[in-house]
Amino acid sequence: MKVVLISPYEIGRQPFALAQPAAWLERDGFDVDCIDLSVEPFQLDSIIQADVVSVHLAMHAGARLAADLIPQIVHRKPNLTICVYGLYAPVNDGYFRSLGCEFVFGGEAESDILSLCRAVRDGSSLSELRETRISMEKLAFTRPLRSLLPELSRYSRLTCADGTEKTTGFVEASRGCKHLCRHCPVVPVYSGAFRVVSTDVVLSDIRQQIEAGAEHISFGDPDFLNGPGHARRIIDRFQQEFPGMTWDATIKIEHLLQHENLISRFSEQNCLFITSAVESVEDTVLDKLDKGHTAEDFRKALLLLRRLAISMQPTFVPFTPWTTLEGYLELLRQIVKLELIDGVAPVQLSIRLLLPRGSSLVDSEDREEWLGLFDSKMLGYSWRHSNSRVDTLQSSVQEWVISAMDQNLDRMETFAGVWAIAHQYIEGKVPELKRTSGTKVPQMSEPWYCCAEPTENLRNQTMKTIGSDSTDEIHAIA
Ligand code: SF4
Repeated sequence: MKVVLISPYEIGRQPFALAQPAAWLERDGFDVDCIDLSVEPFQLDSIIQADVVSVHLAMHAGARLAADLIPQIVHRKPNLTICVYGLYAPVNDGYFRSLGCEFVFGGEAESDILSLCRAVRDGSSLSELRETRISMEKLAFTRPLRSLLPELSRYSRLTCADGTEKTTGFVEASRGCKHLCRHCPVVPVYSGAFRVVSTDVVLSDIRQQIEAGAEHISFGDPDFLNGPGHARRIIDRFQQEFPGMTWDATIKIEHLLQHENLISRFSEQNCLFITSAVESVEDTVLDKLDKGHTAEDFRKALLLLRRLAISMQPTFVPFTPWTTLEGYLELLRQIVKLELIDGVAPVQLSIRLLLPRGSSLVDSEDREEWLGLFDSKMLGYSWRHSNSRVDTLQSSVQEWVISAMDQNLDRMETFAGVWAIAHQYIEGKVPELKRTSGTKVPQMSEPWYCCAEPTENLRNQTMKTIGSDSTDEIHAIA
């Protein structure tokens, strides 16, 4: 029996969330195919032969692509069993069911996917699986089956500070998160829980990716220090086996400050950079998001990493219902003052808060001032700032960032444009911007979104950076 696993888009990473269930299914005797639409075209032949198709919805952008794709699959093969799984599946279950998906799994979904495929193969009852399921089961992970996925060289690559490029391997040592930030898509599914992948499995996954050409390892956990002991054991063994191999991870500001000794140890273990969801330099906004850090904490964490020669890659959600025009200028000033222009991907300067279903922000006390209706096709709530000038500024900044990406402008040139647009609009004059000499920092070819994503145009633009034409492909088969 044939099962096809599809990933629409996962920020340029070779998806663990396909390779892990693929290993479970193949071990059980299924004929498995994996399609990663971010780097390869849609393979209709594979779908025609499939008995079950399972689509992973890791991100808002991927879920939107899946919403385009699924009706076309249903049209071609009406009786196919289709399931969706991942962070954006349970919160949008009604919509995906309306498109033809009968099964919706969230959280630790591998066991449910296997049960579904077994039931279809054996002709047994599917009724227990029809309800939307969110599993928090502690799974016995196995080595992900990555050989069914496109080569690592086709995914996001690392450009080091000295300009050399490295093929990157992508590993997950845990899923979920023990924190409850109010804008985060992990929270409606994991509700403060996280699950670890065993050290042996993580090491075996690293090993197989290094054998496949990886020269740098990127840990894709929502937060690498949810389990600091687990993280330490993994890095100790990884560095013992592969001394000198560089790596990066995502770690929240609060954890960076709490675990200074561990970060110091990581700096001696070839940690190249850390992505951290700073989100804002306005404490009122950080408070609304329940981020667990202040603007001052961000500065302390940045200085800590600098002292340890680890680069910080901050991510921001600069446009929220609570952003002020002065607060946006302050963000730009802080980026200049902290010499971060080259460390911030331009897309981060234009991101507007996403409000997926399940976001606790829609219960904010002041929601009547800004919250609109849920748009099932957009998979999110609309919102408008109470000061329309903030929304106008966001549109202008976004338009400029898209244009700068089209022109291949560097980060300094792009930032200078944002600086001019924002100051001209808010203050009517543009203060001089001291241009940096272009300090080079390590960069992934696909910008990393920690817990916010760009809107449609920017998403399409950023997908082009890894050469994906899958959006066109999906429309072409209609
Ligand atoms: S934003 Fe980061 S730290 Fe907060 S809940 Fe999400 S993954 Fe966890």
